[in-house]
Amino acid sequence: MREAERKELVRRLKTYGYVTSDRVLAAMEKVPRHEFLPDSMAEIAYEDTPLPIGQGQTISAPHMVGMMLEALDLRPGMKVLEIGTGSGYHAALVAELVRPNGRVYTVERIESLGLQAKGRLKRLGYDDVEVVIADGTNGLPEHAPYDRIFAAAAGPQVPGPLKEQLADGGTLMVPVGGRMVQDLVLMTRNGDRFTERSIGSVVFVPLIGEHGYRG
Ligand code: SAH
Repeated sequence: MREAERKELVRRLKTYGYVTSDRVLAAMEKVPRHEFLPDSMAEIAYEDTPLPIGQGQTISAPHMVGMMLEALDLRPGMKVLEIGTGSGYHAALVAELVRPNGRVYTVERIESLGLQAKGRLKRLGYDDVEVVIADGTNGLPEHAPYDRIFAAAAGPQVPGPLKEQLADGGTLMVPVGGRMVQDLVLMTRNGDRFTERSIGSVVFVPLIGEHGYRG
C-alpha cells in the first residue's frame, strides 16, 4: 500500500526532472518516509510537500531532498555530516547512498527530535548513522574531516567551522540568506580555496546557534 504510493512519488520526481540519478531514485524508493512521520500523517507521507514533525520543525519536501542528494554526489564509502537531523529521513537516504563502508553523522539541537530520530533510525536498521544532540553550527570536530557536509536549516552565512571540517576536494551545501528565503549554496574545497555556486532559491527553517541565527 505505502510502497505503491512511494513508487508513484519517485516516478513523479523522475518525470518532472527533479531527480535524474538512478542511485538517488532507488534510495528514495527504498526509504519509508511514512516511518519518519507521526502516525497521523502516514496518509499524506508520499505527497511532495514539507510536513510538520513537531517543535515547529518540518521534514523537507521529497523533491528538495532528492535535489540535494543529487547535487551532493554521494558515493560509497564517504563520511558525511548533516546539520539538522529533524526526523532522520534525509540522514537515512544519505546512509543508503554511502553504503557500503560509509558513515553518516547527523547533529540536532532539539533533544526530543534527536532522540526520536535516533530510536527510529536504529529500529529501521541504520546503524551506520550516528545522531548527536548539539549545536551543529560548530560542526562535529571529533570526526572531521568530512567528504560531504550539508545543512537542512538556513543560516545567515556558511558557518566557519563547517568549512574547516570539510575534507580537501569535499563539498559543502548550506542554505544561506534571510529568514524567509535563501540561496542553496554549494561549496567545493581545493586546499584553502573554496569555489561557490548557488543551486537556486529555497525555503528552510532557521539554523539556530553560535554560527547561525541567535535564538
Ligand atoms: N533533515 C530533516 C529536516 C530538518 S528540519 C529531515 O529529514 O527530517 C531542520 C532541523 O534543523 C530542525 O530539526 C532544527 O531543529 C535543526 N536545527 C536548527 N539549527 C540547528 C543547529 N544549530 N544544530 C543542529 N540542528 C539544528
